[in-house]
Amino acid sequence: MHTMARRRAGSKALIKDINKILVLSTIREQGPVSRTELAQLTGLNASTISKICDDLHKRDMLFDVGAGQSSGGRRPIQMLFNNNLGYIIVVKIEDARIRLALANLKPSIMDDYSIPFQRGGSYPETIGLIKTEIQKLRAKLDAENKELMGVGVALSGIVHHNQGKLMGSTFLGWAEEDIAGDLAEVAGAPVYVDNDINCYALAQHWLGSGKGESNMLCLTIGQGIGGGLVLENKLYRGNAGGAGEIGHMICEQGGRRCYCGQEGCLEGYCSYPALRKDIQQELGLSLTMEEIAQKAQSGHTGICQLLEQAGKRLGSTLISLCMCIAPELIIIGGEGITKLPSYMDGVNKQFGENWFSRSGMSPIPVLFDEPGNRFFLLGTALLVVDRLFGAPLFEEDNPLLRESLSSTI
Ligand SMILES: [Zn+2]
Repeated sequence: MHTMARRRAGSKALIKDINKILVLSTIREQGPVSRTELAQLTGLNASTISKICDDLHKRDMLFDVGAGQSSGGRRPIQMLFNNNLGYIIVVKIEDARIRLALANLKPSIMDDYSIPFQRGGSYPETIGLIKTEIQKLRAKLDAENKELMGVGVALSGIVHHNQGKLMGSTFLGWAEEDIAGDLAEVAGAPVYVDNDINCYALAQHWLGSGKGESNMLCLTIGQGIGGGLVLENKLYRGNAGGAGEIGHMICEQGGRRCYCGQEGCLEGYCSYPALRKDIQQELGLSLTMEEIAQKAQSGHTGICQLLEQAGKRLGSTLISLCMCIAPELIIIGGEGITKLPSYMDGVNKQFGENWFSRSGMSPIPVLFDEPGNRFFLLGTALLVVDRLFGAPLFEEDNPLLRESLSSTI
């Protein structure tokens, strides 16, 4: 949302809404479930469950599926959440294109296309392009009598999620832009904006390898190094969205000057541009990342050593981060990361030396993942899903809690 919503005061209506969201999210996450199972899972009594489920049924928010397991007698009916109750428009701004998609509440990505865009383009021009596409997608949903429940926008930079504002993006060259505010009118539904790596972390947490892990650290390695933190089952954004800027953690005092103004940032040693530069300077080879991967896989000693050195540096930073947040899992994603075995070896060698693996605590697994772009789109849709199913503690319009939906599917 582009403005901070007011907190709701305690009232009967608030309790009713909290229970309704609790039931809905339990069915959504754990369905199919019977009413008896629902009572056990939520701790609500049978008559409250009955009242809520009857109401949700009437509004087509749930549907019944085949009979479940029974210990004898009549088999209980199980319920599933209607993921097609509403839809989400997904927008992801990249360096050479803007990706757009529709998603349902599962979320599943349905239409996925991109329009050309060039990094360095002005903000007003870009937002104009996005507005046109949102209008088209809204018209499509309207024509099919489908309700738009929110718009998710992902981009590189520091994003103040609660205000829907981009604080700054060195990558895109924009600063202090009210993205949610600028898109509010054309969207006609809440607009949620976040950093793209945060969206990636959200997707890993809900749908990927991090499912079921309460504390998780996600990194992406590529042009830069980004990070997303899930702490106690919530995406941790920090002050004004500044959390997770792992690429600008200092790994060398008085080291290489970074474009951010600091010296010795991790990104200056471990990102792909840094690797290419090192290989050129140390070995006199001017190579693309694909060529580096090929040479590393065929055992080029010089390249393997440089990759391992960079991996070790990253491994040391991971140890420091683990000392601070003690995650259950680390996921390192990035285009082509799994094609750089020496880099991964370096990370594993260094990280294997961490205190956690020597103490009585269980070792922290490090997964290398090729996320694919779809994961970023799913994460962007989850920005909206996360808000719809979050505790209704603020005065904001949640279509799931409205007395009647404009359409039912
Ligand atoms: Zn930096």
